[in-house]
Amino acid sequence: MSINGLIVKNILYRIADVLDENKKYLTELDAAIGDGDHGINMSKGFSAVREKIRDDDEKNIGNILKKTGMALVTNVGGASGPLYGTAFLKAAAVVENKDNIELKDFYLMMEEALAGIKIRGGAKVGDKTMVDALEPAVLALRNSIEKNEMPVKALELAKLAAENGMLHTRDISARKGRASYLGERSIGHRDPGAVSSYLILNTIYEEIKIIKG
Ligand code: ADP
Ligand code: MG
Repeated sequence: MSINGLIVKNILYRIADVLDENKKYLTELDAAIGDGDHGINMSKGFSAVREKIRDDDEKNIGNILKKTGMALVTNVGGASGPLYGTAFLKAAAVVENKDNIELKDFYLMMEEALAGIKIRGGAKVGDKTMVDALEPAVLALRNSIEKNEMPVKALELAKLAAENGMLHTRDISARKGRASYLGERSIGHRDPGAVSSYLILNTIYEEIKIIKG
């Protein structure tokens, strides 16, 4: 599985579309346990990404992801902007100077992105944040690499792990971010950032499945 910069750009456009389509849903989730802006933040952030990467013939994946991270950091006000921005910047550093990437690269990018989010936000699994979706996905990818799983299968297992982690956020109380102010009252609601992380991973899987499946 070799993925070039054009495919990466197309995946980012598709992520922007999916986050737009889910703008209302993500905002409703955030209205229940936060301040009701997560959908707006994500949609605004990825619209900026779309503009930033459109109409240039950049082929270097590190540079494309660096632009993505910068657009998120500078255009999203909420906690999620710097966190997702950091994630993309960390992923970019892994594939600096690469025009093509493999599944192994994607795993390393995800591992660095997760580490960046955890350092920046201080959250761990069980705190009811995006980490609850992302960490299981990274573990699933590691497992698939060890087992020499086919890339599309590995991405499917990763998005399913993220989905399970995301669904579990409904049953726990928030210890990080705005939702933590509600404590136990945050139980019963999915974490919006875990849902957006799942949507992003699912979109990556869906797009690669179309190309390579
Ligand atoms: P804000 O909370 O500033 O309004 P958003 O609504 O855009 O920002 O994003 C909220 C999401 O950000 C949460 O659902 C959670 O997943 C994530 N989040 C918040 N704080 C942290 C943190 N410290 N570590 C990891 N993720 C966090
Ligand atoms: Mg919010």
